Amino acid sequence: MSLPSPWRADFPAFAAFGRDCQTYLDSAATAQKPQAVLDALLGYYAGGAANVHRAQHGPGERATLAFEGARAKVAAWLNADSAEQIVFTRGATESINLLAYGLEHLFAAGDQIAVSALEHHANLLPWQQLAQRSGLELLVLPLDAAGDIDLEQAERLIGPRTRLLAVSQLSNVLGRWQPLEALLALARAQGALSVVDGAQGVVHGRHDLQALACDFYVLSAHKLYGPDGIGVLYGRPSALERLRHWQFGGEMVQQADYHEARFRPAPLGFEAGTPAIGAAIALGAALDYLDGLDGEAVAAHEALLHGRLLAGLRRFDGLQLLAEPHTALASFVVEGVHNADLAQLLGEQGIAVRAGQHCAMPLLRRLGRPGALRVSLGLYSEGDDLERFFAALHHALALLR
Ligand code: PLP
Repeated sequence: MSLPSPWRADFPAFAAFGRDCQTYLDSAATAQKPQAVLDALLGYYAGGAANVHRAQHGPGERATLAFEGARAKVAAWLNADSAEQIVFTRGATESINLLAYGLEHLFAAGDQIAVSALEHHANLLPWQQLAQRSGLELLVLPLDAAGDIDLEQAERLIGPRTRLLAVSQLSNVLGRWQPLEALLALARAQGALSVVDGAQGVVHGRHDLQALACDFYVLSAHKLYGPDGIGVLYGRPSALERLRHWQFGGEMVQQADYHEARFRPAPLGFEAGTPAIGAAIALGAALDYLDGLDGEAVAAHEALLHGRLLAGLRRFDGLQLLAEPHTALASFVVEGVHNADLAQLLGEQGIAVRAGQHCAMPLLRRLGRPGALRVSLGLYSEGDDLERFFAALHHALALLR
Protein backbone atom coordinates (compact mmCIF):
# COMPACT_ATOMS: atom_id res chain seq x y z
CA MET A 1 0.00 0.00 0.00
CA SER A 2 1.57 3.28 -1.05
CA LEU A 3 -0.20 5.54 1.49
CA PRO A 4 -0.65 8.63 -0.70
CA SER A 5 -1.32 11.96 0.98
CA PRO A 6 -4.65 13.44 -0.12
CA TRP A 7 -3.15 16.91 0.50
CA ARG A 8 0.07 16.54 -1.51
CA ALA A 9 -1.31 18.33 -4.57
CA ASP A 10 -2.01 21.44 -2.44
CA PHE A 11 1.78 21.96 -2.15
CA PRO A 12 3.32 23.18 -5.43
CA ALA A 13 6.88 22.49 -4.26
CA PHE A 14 6.46 18.78 -4.91
CA ALA A 15 5.84 19.41 -8.61
CA ALA A 16 8.72 21.91 -8.69
CA PHE A 17 11.36 19.78 -6.98
CA GLY A 18 13.71 18.30 -9.55
CA ARG A 19 16.07 15.35 -9.40
CA ASP A 20 18.01 16.90 -6.52
CA CYS A 21 15.04 16.51 -4.19
CA GLN A 22 12.70 13.71 -5.02
CA THR A 23 11.90 13.08 -1.40
CA TYR A 24 11.55 15.81 1.20
CA LEU A 25 11.83 14.39 4.71
CA ASP A 26 12.99 17.49 6.57
CA SER A 27 9.70 19.08 7.60
CA ALA A 28 10.73 19.49 11.23
CA ALA A 29 13.35 21.98 9.96
CA THR A 30 10.84 23.79 7.77
CA ALA A 31 7.61 22.75 6.06
CA GLN A 32 6.58 23.23 2.44
CA LYS A 33 3.80 25.76 1.82
CA PRO A 34 0.35 25.14 0.40
CA GLN A 35 -0.82 27.18 -2.60
CA ALA A 36 -3.20 29.08 -0.30
CA VAL A 37 -0.22 30.55 1.56
CA LEU A 38 1.53 31.55 -1.66
CA ASP A 39 -1.72 33.12 -2.92
CA ALA A 40 -2.06 35.12 0.29
CA LEU A 41 1.51 36.45 0.02
CA LEU A 42 1.14 37.37 -3.62
CA GLY A 43 -2.35 38.74 -3.01
CA TYR A 44 -1.10 41.15 -0.37
CA TYR A 45 1.80 42.48 -2.44
CA ALA A 46 0.06 42.45 -5.81
CA GLY A 47 -3.03 44.07 -4.34
CA GLY A 48 -1.04 47.01 -2.99
CA ALA A 49 1.27 46.94 0.02
CA ALA A 50 0.72 49.48 2.77
CA ASN A 51 1.86 49.95 6.32
CA VAL A 52 -0.42 48.96 9.15
CA HIS A 53 -2.03 50.92 11.99
CA ARG A 54 -1.03 54.39 10.84
CA ALA A 55 -2.45 55.11 7.40
CA GLN A 56 -5.66 57.00 6.68
CA HIS A 57 -5.98 55.53 3.20
CA GLY A 58 -7.69 52.54 1.64
CA PRO A 59 -4.65 50.25 1.16
CA GLY A 60 -3.49 51.00 4.73
CA GLU A 61 -6.90 50.16 6.14
CA ARG A 62 -7.06 46.96 4.11
CA ALA A 63 -3.57 45.93 5.27
CA THR A 64 -4.45 46.68 8.91
CA LEU A 65 -7.67 44.69 8.71
CA ALA A 66 -5.91 41.70 7.14
CA PHE A 67 -2.99 41.89 9.59
CA GLU A 68 -5.24 42.11 12.64
CA GLY A 69 -7.45 39.41 11.11
CA ALA A 70 -4.41 37.13 11.05
CA ARG A 71 -3.80 37.86 14.72
CA ALA A 72 -7.39 36.84 15.48
CA LYS A 73 -6.91 33.60 13.51
CA VAL A 74 -3.81 32.73 15.55
CA ALA A 75 -5.73 33.46 18.76
CA ALA A 76 -8.55 31.17 17.64
CA TRP A 77 -6.10 28.44 16.57
CA LEU A 78 -4.51 28.40 20.03
CA ASN A 79 -7.81 28.99 21.83
CA ALA A 80 -6.49 32.18 23.39
CA ASP A 81 -9.05 34.33 25.15
CA SER A 82 -8.38 37.31 22.91
CA ALA A 83 -6.23 38.49 20.00
CA GLU A 84 -4.51 40.90 22.43
CA GLN A 85 -2.61 37.88 23.75
CA ILE A 86 -0.86 37.28 20.42
CA VAL A 87 2.39 39.15 19.77
CA PHE A 88 3.92 38.75 16.31
CA THR A 89 7.68 38.18 16.30
CA ARG A 90 10.19 36.93 13.73
CA GLY A 91 9.95 33.35 15.00
CA ALA A 92 10.14 31.12 18.04
CA THR A 93 13.77 32.15 18.64
CA GLU A 94 12.90 35.83 18.74
CA SER A 95 9.89 35.15 20.97
CA ILE A 96 12.12 33.47 23.56
CA ASN A 97 14.74 36.20 23.35
CA LEU A 98 11.97 38.76 23.87
CA LEU A 99 11.00 36.89 27.05
CA ALA A 100 14.57 36.58 28.31
CA TYR A 101 14.97 40.36 28.05
CA GLY A 102 11.41 41.35 28.93
CA LEU A 103 11.32 39.32 32.13
CA GLU A 104 14.87 40.05 33.27
CA HIS A 105 13.76 42.71 35.77
CA LEU A 106 11.76 40.09 37.72
CA PHE A 107 14.79 38.04 38.75
CA ALA A 108 17.45 38.62 41.40
CA ALA A 109 20.86 37.03 41.87
CA GLY A 110 20.48 33.52 43.23
CA ASP A 111 17.08 32.91 41.62
CA GLN A 112 16.79 29.81 39.51
CA ILE A 113 15.59 29.34 35.93
CA ALA A 114 14.76 25.77 34.95
CA VAL A 115 15.13 24.34 31.46
CA SER A 116 15.45 20.70 30.44
CA ALA A 117 18.34 18.66 29.06
CA LEU A 118 16.60 18.26 25.69
CA GLU A 119 16.04 21.91 24.75
CA HIS A 120 16.73 23.34 21.32
CA HIS A 121 19.39 26.05 21.48
CA ALA A 122 16.55 28.56 21.00
CA ASN A 123 15.13 27.59 24.38
CA LEU A 124 18.47 27.22 26.12
CA LEU A 125 20.85 29.98 25.08
CA PRO A 126 18.58 32.99 25.79
CA TRP A 127 18.10 31.66 29.36
CA GLN A 128 21.75 30.72 29.75
CA GLN A 129 22.76 34.24 28.73
CA LEU A 130 20.14 35.80 31.02
CA ALA A 131 21.49 33.67 33.88
CA GLN A 132 25.02 34.91 33.15
CA ARG A 133 23.90 38.56 32.92
CA SER A 134 21.91 38.50 36.16
CA GLY A 135 23.75 36.00 38.35
CA LEU A 136 20.93 33.43 38.20
CA GLU A 137 21.30 29.68 38.44
CA LEU A 138 20.34 27.71 35.34
CA LEU A 139 18.82 24.45 36.51
CA VAL A 140 18.89 21.72 33.84
CA LEU A 141 16.18 19.13 34.44
CA PRO A 142 17.48 15.65 33.60
CA LEU A 143 15.82 13.10 31.30
CA ASP A 144 14.60 9.62 32.12
CA ALA A 145 15.61 6.49 30.21
CA ALA A 146 12.84 6.99 27.61
CA GLY A 147 14.09 10.49 26.76
CA ASP A 148 11.47 12.51 28.65
CA ILE A 149 11.97 15.14 31.30
CA ASP A 150 12.20 13.06 34.47
CA LEU A 151 9.20 14.04 36.59
CA GLU A 152 10.47 12.57 39.84
CA GLN A 153 13.70 14.52 39.54
CA ALA A 154 11.83 17.62 38.43
CA GLU A 155 9.65 17.38 41.51
CA ARG A 156 12.75 17.17 43.66
CA LEU A 157 14.65 19.96 41.89
CA ILE A 158 11.98 22.60 41.24
CA GLY A 159 11.69 24.59 44.43
CA PRO A 160 11.01 27.99 45.91
CA ARG A 161 14.06 29.51 44.21
CA THR A 162 12.74 28.48 40.78
CA ARG A 163 11.26 31.62 39.24
CA LEU A 164 10.74 30.38 35.67
CA LEU A 165 10.40 27.06 33.86
CA ALA A 166 11.05 26.91 30.08
CA VAL A 167 10.46 23.57 28.36
CA SER A 168 9.64 22.10 24.96
CA GLN A 169 6.30 20.54 24.20
CA LEU A 170 7.67 18.10 21.62
CA SER A 171 11.39 17.41 21.23
CA ASN A 172 12.82 18.24 17.80
CA VAL A 173 15.41 15.47 18.27
CA LEU A 174 13.64 12.71 20.16
CA GLY A 175 10.11 13.25 18.79
CA ARG A 176 8.57 12.68 22.22
CA TRP A 177 5.76 14.68 23.80
CA GLN A 178 6.92 16.00 27.13
CA PRO A 179 4.89 15.67 30.35
CA LEU A 180 3.86 19.31 30.19
CA GLU A 181 0.81 19.32 32.42
CA ALA A 182 2.73 17.84 35.35
CA LEU A 183 5.73 20.14 34.81
CA LEU A 184 3.54 23.22 34.56
CA ALA A 185 1.79 22.20 37.78
CA LEU A 186 5.18 21.99 39.52
CA ALA A 187 6.06 25.50 38.32
CA ARG A 188 2.66 26.85 39.33
CA ALA A 189 2.98 25.39 42.82
CA GLN A 190 6.14 27.48 43.28
CA GLY A 191 4.63 30.61 41.77
CA ALA A 192 7.14 30.37 38.90
CA LEU A 193 6.41 31.62 35.39
CA SER A 194 6.19 29.03 32.62
CA VAL A 195 7.31 29.18 28.99
CA VAL A 196 6.44 26.41 26.52
CA ASP A 197 8.44 26.05 23.33
CA GLY A 198 5.73 24.93 20.93
CA ALA A 199 7.83 25.18 17.76
CA GLN A 200 7.43 21.45 17.03
CA GLY A 201 4.34 20.63 19.09
CA VAL A 202 2.08 23.19 17.42
CA VAL A 203 2.49 21.40 14.09
CA HIS A 204 0.86 18.21 15.32
CA GLY A 205 -2.72 18.49 16.48
CA ARG A 206 -4.57 21.41 18.04
CA HIS A 207 -3.52 22.63 21.47
CA ASP A 208 -5.82 24.51 23.79
CA LEU A 209 -3.60 27.03 25.56
CA GLN A 210 -6.27 28.04 28.06
CA ALA A 211 -6.51 24.41 29.15
CA LEU A 212 -2.73 24.02 29.16
CA ALA A 213 -2.51 27.11 31.37
CA CYS A 214 1.11 28.02 30.61
CA ASP A 215 2.08 31.66 30.96
CA PHE A 216 3.81 31.90 27.58
CA TYR A 217 3.86 29.75 24.43
CA VAL A 218 6.01 30.35 21.35
CA LEU A 219 5.91 29.10 17.77
CA SER A 220 7.33 29.70 14.29
CA ALA A 221 5.01 29.93 11.29
CA HIS A 222 7.43 28.30 8.85
CA LYS A 223 7.14 24.91 10.54
CA LEU A 224 3.34 25.22 10.49
CA TYR A 225 3.09 25.42 6.68
CA GLY A 226 3.29 29.22 6.83
CA PRO A 227 5.99 31.65 5.65
CA ASP A 228 9.29 32.29 7.36
CA GLY A 229 10.14 35.53 9.11
CA ILE A 230 7.08 35.41 11.35
CA GLY A 231 6.39 33.78 14.68
CA VAL A 232 4.18 34.15 17.69
CA LEU A 233 4.47 34.84 21.37
CA TYR A 234 1.29 33.95 23.20
CA GLY A 235 0.95 35.19 26.76
CA ARG A 236 -1.65 35.07 29.49
CA PRO A 237 -2.78 38.63 30.21
CA SER A 238 -1.35 38.57 33.73
CA ALA A 239 2.01 37.36 32.37
CA LEU A 240 2.11 39.84 29.47
CA GLU A 241 1.57 42.66 31.95
CA ARG A 242 4.83 41.74 33.67
CA LEU A 243 6.91 42.02 30.49
CA ARG A 244 9.17 45.07 30.07
CA HIS A 245 9.55 46.51 26.60
CA TRP A 246 12.67 45.32 24.85
CA GLN A 247 12.85 46.87 21.37
CA PHE A 248 12.03 50.50 20.85
CA GLY A 249 10.91 52.56 17.88
CA GLY A 250 7.80 53.26 15.87
CA GLU A 251 4.48 51.53 16.44
CA MET A 252 5.20 50.42 20.02
CA VAL A 253 5.10 53.92 21.50
CA GLN A 254 2.13 55.78 22.93
CA GLN A 255 3.71 59.16 23.71
CA ALA A 256 7.26 60.27 22.96
CA ASP A 257 9.31 63.33 23.84
CA TYR A 258 13.06 63.87 23.56
CA HIS A 259 13.84 62.64 27.03
CA GLU A 260 11.01 60.29 27.88
CA ALA A 261 8.35 58.11 26.33
CA ARG A 262 5.37 55.94 27.26
CA PHE A 263 4.86 52.62 25.57
CA ARG A 264 1.87 50.59 24.49
CA PRO A 265 0.86 47.39 26.21
CA ALA A 266 0.93 44.04 24.37
CA PRO A 267 0.62 43.17 21.64
CA LEU A 268 1.63 46.35 19.79
CA GLY A 269 4.07 47.45 22.50
CA PHE A 270 6.20 44.42 21.62
CA GLU A 271 6.07 44.90 17.85
CA ALA A 272 8.51 47.76 17.32
CA GLY A 273 8.86 48.96 13.74
CA THR A 274 7.03 47.76 10.65
CA PRO A 275 5.99 44.16 11.20
CA ALA A 276 6.15 41.34 8.64
CA ILE A 277 2.72 42.26 7.28
CA GLY A 278 2.57 39.94 4.27
CA ALA A 279 3.97 37.06 6.31
CA ALA A 280 1.40 37.56 9.07
CA ILE A 281 -1.42 37.54 6.52
CA ALA A 282 0.03 34.39 4.97
CA LEU A 283 0.26 32.74 8.42
CA GLY A 284 -3.47 33.45 8.73
CA ALA A 285 -3.95 31.73 5.36
CA ALA A 286 -1.96 28.70 6.57
CA LEU A 287 -4.27 28.41 9.57
CA ASP A 288 -7.35 28.77 7.34
CA TYR A 289 -5.93 26.00 5.15
CA LEU A 290 -5.30 23.70 8.14
CA ASP A 291 -8.72 24.56 9.56
CA GLY A 292 -10.26 23.36 6.31
CA LEU A 293 -8.68 19.89 6.62
CA ASP A 294 -10.11 16.99 8.55
CA GLY A 295 -7.78 17.07 11.58
CA GLU A 296 -8.47 13.47 12.48
CA ALA A 297 -7.65 12.33 8.95
CA VAL A 298 -4.37 14.27 9.07
CA ALA A 299 -3.46 12.75 12.43
CA ALA A 300 -4.33 9.25 11.21
CA HIS A 301 -2.24 9.69 8.05
CA GLU A 302 0.74 10.99 10.03
CA ALA A 303 0.45 8.15 12.55
CA LEU A 304 0.33 5.46 9.84
CA LEU A 305 3.35 6.93 8.07
CA HIS A 306 5.26 7.32 11.30
CA GLY A 307 4.60 3.69 12.20
CA ARG A 308 5.84 2.66 8.78
CA LEU A 309 8.95 4.82 9.16
CA LEU A 310 9.83 3.17 12.48
CA ALA A 311 9.12 -0.35 11.20
CA GLY A 312 11.28 0.28 8.12
CA LEU A 313 14.18 1.70 10.14
CA ARG A 314 14.13 -1.31 12.48
CA ARG A 315 14.92 -3.60 9.53
CA PHE A 316 18.40 -2.06 9.14
CA ASP A 317 21.20 -3.86 10.96
CA GLY A 318 23.18 -1.70 13.35
CA LEU A 319 20.68 1.18 13.20
CA GLN A 320 19.82 2.66 16.58
CA LEU A 321 17.06 5.15 17.31
CA LEU A 322 18.06 7.87 19.80
CA ALA A 323 14.68 7.34 21.48
CA GLU A 324 11.33 5.77 20.67
CA PRO A 325 9.59 8.76 19.06
CA HIS A 326 5.86 9.38 19.57
CA THR A 327 5.27 11.26 16.35
CA ALA A 328 6.45 13.06 13.26
CA LEU A 329 10.14 12.18 13.18
CA ALA A 330 12.84 9.66 13.94
CA SER A 331 16.48 10.35 14.82
CA PHE A 332 19.01 7.59 14.53
CA VAL A 333 22.63 6.59 14.17
CA VAL A 334 24.13 3.64 12.33
CA GLU A 335 27.02 1.78 13.92
CA GLY A 336 30.34 2.48 12.24
CA VAL A 337 28.92 5.13 9.87
CA HIS A 338 29.24 8.89 10.22
CA ASN A 339 25.88 10.66 10.05
CA ALA A 340 27.25 13.39 7.76
CA ASP A 341 28.52 10.81 5.23
CA LEU A 342 25.14 9.15 5.26
CA ALA A 343 23.27 12.43 4.78
CA GLN A 344 25.62 13.31 1.92
CA LEU A 345 24.97 10.01 0.11
CA LEU A 346 21.23 10.35 0.71
CA GLY A 347 21.31 13.93 -0.60
CA GLU A 348 23.09 12.75 -3.75
CA GLN A 349 20.17 10.38 -4.29
CA GLY A 350 17.63 13.20 -3.97
CA ILE A 351 16.62 12.46 -0.39
CA ALA A 352 16.44 15.50 1.90
CA VAL A 353 16.98 14.60 5.55
CA ARG A 354 18.89 16.37 8.30
CA ALA A 355 22.17 15.31 9.88
CA GLY A 356 24.14 16.73 12.78
CA GLN A 357 23.25 18.01 16.19
CA HIS A 358 19.85 19.51 15.39
CA CYS A 359 20.52 22.72 17.35
CA ALA A 360 20.73 20.65 20.53
CA MET A 361 24.46 20.14 21.09
CA PRO A 362 24.21 19.53 24.85
CA LEU A 363 21.55 16.84 24.33
CA LEU A 364 23.59 15.00 21.70
CA ARG A 365 26.61 15.19 23.96
CA ARG A 366 24.58 13.82 26.86
CA LEU A 367 23.42 10.95 24.65
CA GLY A 368 27.03 10.28 23.77
CA ARG A 369 26.48 10.90 20.06
CA PRO A 370 28.51 13.29 17.92
CA GLY A 371 25.46 13.67 15.68
CA ALA A 372 22.46 11.83 14.29
CA LEU A 373 20.33 11.60 11.19
CA ARG A 374 16.76 12.89 11.46
CA VAL A 375 13.89 11.99 9.14
CA SER A 376 10.78 14.10 9.63
CA LEU A 377 7.32 14.02 8.11
CA GLY A 378 4.68 16.54 7.09
CA LEU A 379 1.02 16.06 6.26
CA TYR A 380 2.02 15.85 2.59
CA SER A 381 4.50 12.99 3.14
CA GLU A 382 3.61 9.65 1.56
CA GLY A 383 4.47 5.98 1.70
CA ASP A 384 6.42 6.34 -1.55
CA ASP A 385 8.67 8.94 0.09
CA LEU A 386 9.56 6.36 2.70
CA GLU A 387 10.14 3.64 0.12
CA ARG A 388 12.55 5.90 -1.80
CA PHE A 389 14.27 6.82 1.45
CA PHE A 390 14.67 3.18 2.54
CA ALA A 391 16.07 2.19 -0.87
CA ALA A 392 18.52 5.11 -0.79
CA LEU A 393 19.55 4.30 2.79
CA HIS A 394 20.17 0.71 1.80
CA HIS A 395 22.32 1.84 -1.11
CA ALA A 396 24.25 4.38 0.99
CA LEU A 397 24.97 1.83 3.70
CA ALA A 398 26.15 -0.69 1.13
CA LEU A 399 28.71 1.89 -0.03
CA LEU A 400 29.79 2.94 3.47
CA ARG A 401 30.10 -0.44 5.22
N1 PLP B 1 12.40 25.18 19.28
C1 PLP B 1 12.35 24.01 18.66
C2 PLP B 1 11.93 22.78 19.42
C3 PLP B 1 12.69 23.92 17.30
O1 PLP B 1 12.65 22.74 16.68
C4 PLP B 1 13.08 25.11 16.63
C5 PLP B 1 13.50 25.04 15.21
O2 PLP B 1 14.00 24.05 14.75
C6 PLP B 1 13.09 26.31 17.33
C7 PLP B 1 12.75 26.31 18.66
C8 PLP B 1 13.52 27.58 16.69
O3 PLP B 1 12.66 27.97 15.68
P1 PLP B 1 13.05 29.16 14.69
O4 PLP B 1 14.39 28.81 14.12
O5 PLP B 1 11.98 29.15 13.68
O6 PLP B 1 13.07 30.40 15.50
